[in-house]
Amino acid sequence: RNGDPLILMHEFAADMYHHILLNTEEGQAALDYLENRGFTQEIIEKYRIGWALPEWNYMEVALRRKGYDDEQLEASGLAIKREKSDGWFDRFRGRIMFPIMNENGKAIAFSGRVLEQSKQEAKYMNSPESPIFQKSQVLYNVHLARGAIRKNRKIILFEGFMDVIAAGKAGIDNALATMGTSLTSQHIRQMKRFAQEVVVCFDGDDAGWEAAKRAAVPLEEANFKVGIAVLPNGMDPDDYVRQNGADAFREHIIEKPQTFIAFAMMHARRHKNFQYENDLLQYIQEVLQLLAGKSSPVERDLYIKQLSAETKLSEEAILQQYRRLETRSIERSRPKAAESVQAAPRREQK
Ligand code: ATP
Ligand code: MN
Ligand code: MN
Ligand code: MN
Repeated sequence: RNGDPLILMHEFAADMYHHILLNTEEGQAALDYLENRGFTQEIIEKYRIGWALPEWNYMEVALRRKGYDDEQLEASGLAIKREKSDGWFDRFRGRIMFPIMNENGKAIAFSGRVLEQSKQEAKYMNSPESPIFQKSQVLYNVHLARGAIRKNRKIILFEGFMDVIAAGKAGIDNALATMGTSLTSQHIRQMKRFAQEVVVCFDGDDAGWEAAKRAAVPLEEANFKVGIAVLPNGMDPDDYVRQNGADAFREHIIEKPQTFIAFAMMHARRHKNFQYENDLLQYIQEVLQLLAGKSSPVERDLYIKQLSAETKLSEEAILQQYRRLETRSIERSRPKAAESVQAAPRREQK
């Protein structure tokens, strides 16, 4: 499997991008950019970061010289055949290259970042799906993090690989990230092999909060102990580490995760004004729905007390509302056949 020509091509490309970044004049601007962002030589080597020259087909030529043919070039996604004229061009040009490694540490894809953000070009460009790279299955950093995850029995899950690298600087080695997609059941199954606990630490913006909620639900369903580490508004983990340092990141963010319900409550409150009855009632309903059917009695008590304090409504009223919802959610989750068997006699009794 690791002798697969597609993997050999990616390994060759990763080494070449890395060499160009570190040892050539053409790589200097990218190296300066990375240094500015706090990347040391050690980090650049650890994650095998590189630079793709802005030339049209540098990598295509290099790969052909190694003996790879049209079919292999196409399958790798590293070069693209021109549609309207002869010849090929490189997918990644003038980008900082982050190789994505498989569990054995072999490069199977890339994500390339532009040096300067512009409206014309996407900030990140990823390799296309290929026989060796399926985004729905691949997590960034598994090969480096696996040992630390088993040791800590915990995964710290980030939105982007830049955040994984930032966490590495802060001494957090049990970090993974998806490749710009939402968390799939395959990701979760893979994570389950290494740990029972996950701390989700996504960007402190609307997209990040939504994504954290979307990730937390299936993780809890897969019986992970889930915590949500929340960042200040507008910051991502990398920003936070650079601004406040590694110790603060560990102590105030990663080691102080919230429960999913507390996080979701905070999120539900954000755009609501409790002076409006509609907002108030909707908030209570949303939170009770989160509680219904999955929280322990102690958690239920805790959050109902909190709801009552926040909304100035009595705990009794909120509890009653909750009981109604819970009955409904139990009825909904009961299998169809059982429901009809039980429902019929009840109606006859009346
Ligand atoms: P940076 O700090 O360099 O701006 P970031 O990690 O903060 O990078 P985000 O914009 O927060 O970047 O995006 C998080 C993740 O989402 C990225 O790691 C990438 O996987 C994915 N992503 C973001 N923008 C794009 C894009 N234009 N195309 C594909 N994937 C993207
Ligand atoms: Mn973001
Ligand atoms: Mn980000
Ligand atoms: Mn960032």
